[in-house]
Amino acid sequence: METVTLTLDEVLDLAMNVLTRHGCDKRNADAVARTIWAAERDEAHSHGLFRLPGYVASLKSGKANGRADPTVTHLAPGAIRVHGDMGFAPLALAVGRPPLAEATRQNGVAVLAVTRTHHFAALWPETAALAEMGLAAMAVTSASTFVAPAGGTKPLFGTNPMSFAWPRPDGPPVVFDQASSAMARGEIQLAGRDGHAVPEGVGINADGNPTTDPAEILKGAQLPFGGYKGSGIALMIELLAGPLINEVCSFEATEQDNKDGGPATGGEFVLAFDPTLFGAGEGALPHGEALFERMLAQDGVRLPGDRRYAARERTPEIGAQIPQSLHKTILALLD
Ligand code: NDP
Repeated sequence: METVTLTLDEVLDLAMNVLTRHGCDKRNADAVARTIWAAERDEAHSHGLFRLPGYVASLKSGKANGRADPTVTHLAPGAIRVHGDMGFAPLALAVGRPPLAEATRQNGVAVLAVTRTHHFAALWPETAALAEMGLAAMAVTSASTFVAPAGGTKPLFGTNPMSFAWPRPDGPPVVFDQASSAMARGEIQLAGRDGHAVPEGVGINADGNPTTDPAEILKGAQLPFGGYKGSGIALMIELLAGPLINEVCSFEATEQDNKDGGPATGGEFVLAFDPTLFGAGEGALPHGEALFERMLAQDGVRLPGDRRYAARERTPEIGAQIPQSLHKTILALLD
């Protein structure tokens, strides 16, 4: 595949220019562009510039508000809502982070309910940002109907990602961030674009039969990871990011969506914990370090997040490798 190399500054500028060209004000464009920049910095390509045409599609169709002004409501001492004003999630999350952190430090635990937004990114930026403030955090969001529940053959759940981050005394947090589908949809799309098959168990075709062809899976249904176990996690995420926070489930998001190719409208549930307030005091983090040390003592083990941190070391030097076709598509959005 032919690629174009962009510096990380060029990635940020390109994303900013495209988003402002299509109606985002500076504040909204900046929040989304920095999320794209962070994905390219960490070589998380499925949520970097690859997503820019989808963001633009939702601005053009009028589904997403590029001038969103998210508002904060304190629902209870440990429950904060950010109404996203139909904008993209990164700005609503940035607006909600300080009050969430404050409520977490007061109560030990607090929830941020993000509503009426469009989430088209990875979840690690939000959990990592809280962990960098010394808090442990979990985030989940549902999406459009892509995944069949265990035993079924028709899409009903979203790919429903979940991220968890744990702060470390010296260095970046331990963060995992994973879809509850066997494979993230963006990865299936990338495999289809690049002409690769995907592993068995990733999805089924429209007739409900197993297939490794990305195009057939995108017409059929994705499968949860780990059979009924992943299906249970996807179910929990539907409930936390939907009914619990007065938002839609994936099936409702899909029914209401205008199918412009961008993200459906929905919510996100973020839970934060202050690790010093649950009995261990300042000992919680060193205790976590002892666990990580034991893990890493085994050959072949690495901590989740470390692949991104390794990429983060090299991309300021080598830049981001963008497929030429994607680069062309993005440049055309500036015409
Ligand atoms: P992956 O399967 O690529 O990775 C899942 C997690 O496992 C990562 O935290 C990864 O860390 C970690 N990991 C991978 N390999 C190892 C290993 N050998 N040892 C230890 N940890 C490991 O993620 P998915 O494909 O499931 O999801 C990709 C992205 O898609 C996520 O960021 C998710 O948020 C996003 N997504 C977003 C949606 C939305 O609606 N906005 C919907 C669905 C998914 P590392 O990063 O270091 O490799």
